[in-house]
Amino acid sequence: MRVRTRVAPSPTGAPHIGTAYIALFNRAFAKHHGGQFILRIEDTDQVRSTPESETAIFEALRWLGLDWDEGPDIGGSCGPYRQSERTALYREHVDRLVTSGHAYRCFCTSERLAALRLTQEANQERIGYDGHCAGLDAGDAAQRVAAGEAHVIRLRTPQEGVCQIADRFRGTIEIAWETVDDQILVKADGFPTYHLANVVDDHLMEITHVIRGEEWISSAPKHLLLYEAFGWEPPVLAHLPLLRNPDKSKLSKRKNPTSILYYRQAGFLPKALINYLGLMAYRPEGDLEMFDFDTMVASFDLDRVHLGGPIFDIQKLRAFNGHYIRELEDVDLLATLKGWLLQDASLLELVRMAQPRLEQLADFVPMTAYLFADQIPLDPADIDQAGKDSGKAAAWIQFVQWEFARLGDWDADGVRDCFNRVAEREGVKFKLLLGVFFRVFSGRAVALPLFEALVWLGRDMTLRRLHYAQEALREAGLGLSGKALKRLEKWYQERYLREGGEDG
Ligand code: GLU
Repeated sequence: MRVRTRVAPSPTGAPHIGTAYIALFNRAFAKHHGGQFILRIEDTDQVRSTPESETAIFEALRWLGLDWDEGPDIGGSCGPYRQSERTALYREHVDRLVTSGHAYRCFCTSERLAALRLTQEANQERIGYDGHCAGLDAGDAAQRVAAGEAHVIRLRTPQEGVCQIADRFRGTIEIAWETVDDQILVKADGFPTYHLANVVDDHLMEITHVIRGEEWISSAPKHLLLYEAFGWEPPVLAHLPLLRNPDKSKLSKRKNPTSILYYRQAGFLPKALINYLGLMAYRPEGDLEMFDFDTMVASFDLDRVHLGGPIFDIQKLRAFNGHYIRELEDVDLLATLKGWLLQDASLLELVRMAQPRLEQLADFVPMTAYLFADQIPLDPADIDQAGKDSGKAAAWIQFVQWEFARLGDWDADGVRDCFNRVAEREGVKFKLLLGVFFRVFSGRAVALPLFEALVWLGRDMTLRRLHYAQEALREAGLGLSGKALKRLEKWYQERYLREGGEDG
């Protein structure tokens, strides 16, 4: 059987552990069949996609050993592999659909759509497009386009009957067509949406099996309709179960670290992560728990994929990781540690930060130790009191968290600006604010220079520490209630994003 699979992440934010999970299954399946595994970057969201995020995806997947046979950085016979470089192709394809009547131009303004939504809400009807432009005469529509009228292109969707989706893992899934919207295929700015680009690319890249997360099941009817409209054979669809937090909710960074780069910095081994992610939906023959990628490839069989809500439990992952660490020869462990944070380049940065503060060489290790840890001991009462007014610290941590998450480049100036903005907006002295954060990050009132230290720590680990601090405060009854968090969210929107969003 000829097999071509792909993983198609969107380069927004930190590289997600879910991307590694999907990549792993696609790669294992392709390798088992001697096929190809492709990396495609789905950057149709021009606002949220960034080159940094794309680079981080490459880095994170390579670190895990999930290399690809074709992709944006290495090319291949079906490129380009970045959707933003394929817009002409989508244009050409959507024109075909408009000509054949499978898609139509829609001129509805955002005001009309907003009013429609309000009415549907008031009448407790299904929220969705009402087909207002579906019946427009094609000639009239073409004239309006020629006159420069703004429009989108929508997929003409049946109103009745059911769509049957053949899912390789789940059997037939039925979705009533009346619940499927006339999906926008091309936005007013001429850019395609995920659905159009995804289907066109899967076809042109000759993808035979689409193994992806179950959150895409509801998109499948639109995709199948597109394949039919183009007259193409759809690939095999196989939807993997979503990773979940231990409380069964969808894996989210509020509860679990989701960035692959966090796991690297926190000292998890690629082997352990691969094994654990594999186990989320797979067991090789003999029901082995411990297996490596090659074992997974050798025995890979879609029939062995199990769907029962996989729980991604970081404590279990730690146990796996410990197992793999103990398996290493001592010299290999030493090499692993050196390849981790004990390499010269990162040590040199620490040496520079520590030098002005050292009186004895023996000060170096204790002075820098907190930067190597994942979780450090925290004193929540001390953190809270450093904010002077009880409860302030928790709010500031939250603001800094939001600021860090949306900061562009992770450098000392950027980090300082975030603290500055929070100090300014909250009307607190900079020094007092930093006092809180020294404690949050180092567990002490005095430590290495804060901004440089955080740059060294990296964004993902820094965000994790903020999370630990929030947890410690919450456990001590000094944290934010759900209600307070909502209030802060609103305040943040108004005071940081709307008013002063452009100043940093
Ligand atoms: N760009 C989508 C994502 O971010 C791809 C979904 C798919 O595999 O079709 O996951």
